[in-house]
Amino acid sequence: MKREEAVEFLKSKDPNIIVEYLNKIDKNKKYITYSKNVFIPLSKWCRNRCGYCIFREEKPSLMKPNEVKEILLKGDKLGCREALFTFGERVDENKEIKEKLKSLGFDNIIEYLYHLEDWTLNNTNLLPHTNCGILSYDELKLLKEVNASIGLMLENVSKRLMDEIPHKFSPGKDPNLRIEMIENAGKLKIPFTTGLLIGIGENEEEIVDSLFKIKEIHEKYGHIQEVIIQNFRVKKGIPMENYKEPSPIKMLKIIILAKLILKDISIQIPPNLNRETGQLFLLAGVDDWGGVSPLTKDYVNPEAEWPEVEELRRWSEELGYNLKLRLPVYDKFISKEWLSERVYNKILSMGWKVED
Ligand code: SF4
Repeated sequence: MKREEAVEFLKSKDPNIIVEYLNKIDKNKKYITYSKNVFIPLSKWCRNRCGYCIFREEKPSLMKPNEVKEILLKGDKLGCREALFTFGERVDENKEIKEKLKSLGFDNIIEYLYHLEDWTLNNTNLLPHTNCGILSYDELKLLKEVNASIGLMLENVSKRLMDEIPHKFSPGKDPNLRIEMIENAGKLKIPFTTGLLIGIGENEEEIVDSLFKIKEIHEKYGHIQEVIIQNFRVKKGIPMENYKEPSPIKMLKIIILAKLILKDISIQIPPNLNRETGQLFLLAGVDDWGGVSPLTKDYVNPEAEWPEVEELRRWSEELGYNLKLRLPVYDKFISKEWLSERVYNKILSMGWKVED
């Protein structure tokens, strides 16, 4: 598919064209996957201030090792297999957090994170996945040792949004920085999760360019395992309170395009943000429900409860698809080529069976 064709499709208001493209989607998949996780918001401070964020807090918080370990052990008992470590970008630029880290015996947040992820591998059957904003090449290299995969939303390639409410006060949302990190992860052969945030003032061309950028990077490095198509949700009190949420048809069209452009990459939508429409999106190319947790809430969208796994099963089976648990690293990346020896051996020791 060419860029111009994709833009034209997104702009089209002809229902027949939407059906025509929907028919191009291969619907013969066997499974819809999901990951059972615990969400660990290590710190809610962040150097950025995105116009849609309610995760960020001014308070320089830092979870203590025991608080983190308690969640990990509980999650392990409940059969969770993913430990999602999340925190605001460059939290150790904050003096109080830096002091807290020092008092725990760590020089910076990455050292602390490494310690916790190392503990996770040694003491549970959970596999770490980190999503904490921009990381340098060296930080990625270090974290690869203890992570099954790493994530960073591209969100959008639009530089224009850096001057508008969504990203005006968020230096880390510079698309060049994000593209650089995704490429660095590729160079390091780290299985990677990225995605688009839809409804933050981007136009059709920018959505298409973002999808083609991901495709271009993936063709070079082959490391992108999934792309999340995340819809902006209005929340009271945020700077973007008056923005409109993307419509179901807009989401449907973007998902169709994502599948047609990104082909072998999984397409994920967060089921808690798409309760009414998520099942229909399976017809448009979605094949993964992402991480759901029986224990912790979605701290990025705390108003949106996770559906029960049984609900995801019902939504999937009604269309003839089996719901299948996956690890934070997709089966096709479970090899020594993509994982550190340590993470690879851990997965083997868990008795995980890789299926075609
Ligand atoms: S980078 Fe993430 S945590 Fe920080 S303000 Fe933006 S959305 Fe919130």
